[in-house]
Amino acid sequence: MPIKVVALAGGIGGARFLKGLRLIDDLEISVIINNGDDINMHGLRICPDLDSVIYNLAGESDLVRGWGRKDETWVVQQQLAHYLGEEQWFNLGDKDYATHIYRTNLLNNGIELSEIVKLQCAKWGIGLNLMPATNDFVQTQVQLTDGQQIHFQEWWVKHRAALPATGFELIGAETAKPAPGVLDAIAQADLIILPPSNPIVSIGMILRIPGIRAAIMAASAPVVGVSPIIGGNPVLGMADKCLTALGLETSATSVAAQYGDLLDAWLIADTDDEQVSAITNLGIKCESAPLLMTDDQAAKEIAMRAIGMTR
Ligand code: GDP
Ligand code: CA
Repeated sequence: MPIKVVALAGGIGGARFLKGLRLIDDLEISVIINNGDDINMHGLRICPDLDSVIYNLAGESDLVRGWGRKDETWVVQQQLAHYLGEEQWFNLGDKDYATHIYRTNLLNNGIELSEIVKLQCAKWGIGLNLMPATNDFVQTQVQLTDGQQIHFQEWWVKHRAALPATGFELIGAETAKPAPGVLDAIAQADLIILPPSNPIVSIGMILRIPGIRAAIMAASAPVVGVSPIIGGNPVLGMADKCLTALGLETSATSVAAQYGDLLDAWLIADTDDEQVSAITNLGIKCESAPLLMTDDQAAKEIAMRAIGMTR
């Protein structure tokens, strides 16, 4: 019998981890992916984290840039900039545009996002069960210290997370429902994994879709997480800016405390070994290991270690 694993995921950190996880034998893997980054641009629905995971698992992502398709060209974006008379702050390549046109057209014809994700997965030959957290349109908004609210993408991409912020809202969450299959997968899981994704705006926003956090708390499966923070820094990206905005320290311990009673086990970096006892004192089983996902094999070893903590 395969072990039924459910993983929550944002974009690049989640995708790197999943590329290792899927190398492990005898797992049946379901993935619940963050929709908080979703945004409408030029009349198209962009789902950055869904696409990051799909492109990475398909071997089609640009590994240097960390987002979008490899071997991209930028003709559409340049032509849009020409029409609009200004540079576009949200970069989308031509191959990427094809994804957004395809998805938006299907959405406009009444096809649910979760069905479109299945079509994408079939097209790319991705053997995992990928699901959006919700089929409803939700968007993460950043609360700025000057009282303004802006879309997360504008804060993150246009302003490089440099505008002082005090919090994050998930607009549309009150009425959003988990996508079909999400709650069942959690209830039937043998193991639930929180990969090293951004704890606030990736995993945190999945947990804000009504019912998902409660389902994980109620599930019989143990929950194990892998720290995205090594030392006082995110491995890449600006997750520290999200933690700082909430008045939280950037450390493996701080992220564990943020997840709180959701976690049964938390894997931290070997270089953060001195934090093991503080995390154990929170009532969370804690071990340390090398946590750099330098390649798929390294990610596989991290995933095996995390799974091993619960068995
Ligand atoms: P995003 O939506 O593209 O920002 O991606 P995620 O939310 O899935 O992941 C972002 C997080 O991945 C960042 O906080 C990084 O610290 C973390 N990350 C990326 N690469 C690694 C790695 O090799 N090891 C660990 N432990 N974390 C990583
Ligand atoms: Ca993201």
